[in-house]
Amino acid sequence: MNTAIVWLRRDLRLYDHAALYHATRQATRVVVVFIFDTDILADLPRTDRRVEFIWVSLVALKSELEAHGSSLIVRHGRAVELIPQLAAEFQADAVFCNRDYEPQAIARDAQVGNQLQQDGRALHSYKDQVIFECDEVLTQAGKPFGVFTPYKNAWLKRLTPFYLQAYPVRTETYASMPAQPMPSLAELGFVRTNLTQLPVKHGSEGAAQTWQDFQTRIDSYQDARNFPAIKGPSYLSVHIRFGTLSIRQLANYAYHHGGAGAETWLSELIWREFYQQVLWHHPQLAAGQTYKADFNDIDWPNPDGHFAAWCEARTGYPLVDAAMRQLNKTGYMHNRLRMVAAAFLVKDLHVDWRLGEAYFAQHLIDFDLAANNGGWQWSASTGCDAQPWFRIFNPITQSEKFDPEGKFIKRYLPELAALPAKYIHAPWLLTSAQQQMYHVRIGVDYPPPIVDHSVARGVTLVLFKSVTGG
Ligand SMILES: Cc1cc2nc3c(=O)[nH]c(=O)nc-3n(C[C@H](O)[C@H](O)[C@H](O)COP(=O)(O)OP(=O)(O)OC[C@H]3O[C@@H](n4cnc5c(N)ncnc54)[C@H](O)[C@@H]3O)c2cc1C
Repeated sequence: MNTAIVWLRRDLRLYDHAALYHATRQATRVVVVFIFDTDILADLPRTDRRVEFIWVSLVALKSELEAHGSSLIVRHGRAVELIPQLAAEFQADAVFCNRDYEPQAIARDAQVGNQLQQDGRALHSYKDQVIFECDEVLTQAGKPFGVFTPYKNAWLKRLTPFYLQAYPVRTETYASMPAQPMPSLAELGFVRTNLTQLPVKHGSEGAAQTWQDFQTRIDSYQDARNFPAIKGPSYLSVHIRFGTLSIRQLANYAYHHGGAGAETWLSELIWREFYQQVLWHHPQLAAGQTYKADFNDIDWPNPDGHFAAWCEARTGYPLVDAAMRQLNKTGYMHNRLRMVAAAFLVKDLHVDWRLGEAYFAQHLIDFDLAANNGGWQWSASTGCDAQPWFRIFNPITQSEKFDPEGKFIKRYLPELAALPAKYIHAPWLLTSAQQQMYHVRIGVDYPPPIVDHSVARGVTLVLFKSVTGG
């Protein structure tokens, strides 16, 4: 093969990369491209940390290619049109890419593939962002798994060193070309966010630093991961989402490192693949359907003002509000808090989980359709292997257990900074004298609770019973 195009999407790195591995072996000249796809960008807010993360990561990737005498071709428009056009412009024999399992991406790739085929070219796609994809891990009866633990066991059973091997890239076949222009964020129609003020590092180099930092903490992951005030999790989700790290590199390390911390962390990577295969087998989930069909019929009350109060961190429940401020300010939310905030929206505020899912989708820097939908349906008890519907998180107990001293709460709710730990989880219980003493006037400095948890809990049970008959 003479010329190949490698089309980057959620794989923004130049090492251990399946499509680059195959292209740089099969072609003598490899052109690397990225499309800012208007079919995706059109619906995003003009201030979007993800677009900026991609943009800064591409700037770094472009310089890496330029160090090899090549460059990155970056275009802005509809990928379904631009990829076939670029293939013609570079007289490429084929386009190489890594597979994406989201329904819209599958449809887009099919359209691009058809056009290329009509033009006498091929689209070659590879597994890259997961260890096992699609039908690779099935039950003994050949069915997709709907429960995590047997999926995980089958996943681990199937694992051999082959699946963890890196895909090396032959840099000498990169097409030589002068440095190419790249549209600015403004030219793409976006404005700068606060990304550079956040601890999130971008590009392969930033990903490598974050990963190295986590390797020094992985042994304590199992104990530390549940406490949002401490640095327990890896903070790698954005890098896993955009492929600034290779999943094989992470899984290989976690698998061979051993110990409870690494094993638990590997399980989280397997949860990610579990939800990826769930979405691939059940694409209707992307269209708002519940995994358990019965729960489509729940008539969510969506009381006036509840959703807005949740989004704006005004529920009066400090842990929930601190979590929502973390999301709004940083684009990240700790996993324990995602569960608490999601469960609160659904089971205390009685708001349709799809609204919360959409809000997270818009604000999370690591937004991933499969993981987000899986997490929301787990929290709403409508999903596969979900929290049973009658198990309802108590937001005060969660707060006492996972942020006992209120350190996380105080980080994001400075208005509660003077409160002693014993009052911080339910500040509405303060007497007027205590409110004066601690400079927190409920209803003035901080809202009263939007609902009474025990009453709200009863309403939720009735809602679920209305469709389960239970
Ligand atoms: C309501 C809800 C929504 C969520 N939305 C997303 C989302 O849009 N994108 C996303 O990547 N994760 C999502 N998660 C899963 C999880 O909260 C994040 O992956 C995690 O908080 C990211 O932080 P980390 O990289 O520091 O996590 P770590 O604890 O270090 O986990 C390592 C990696 O494992 C994967 N992972 C961990 N937990 C899960 C999980 N429960 N499901 C799937 N993958 C997991 C992620 O890739 C994560 O980066 C959601 C969870 C819930 C409850």
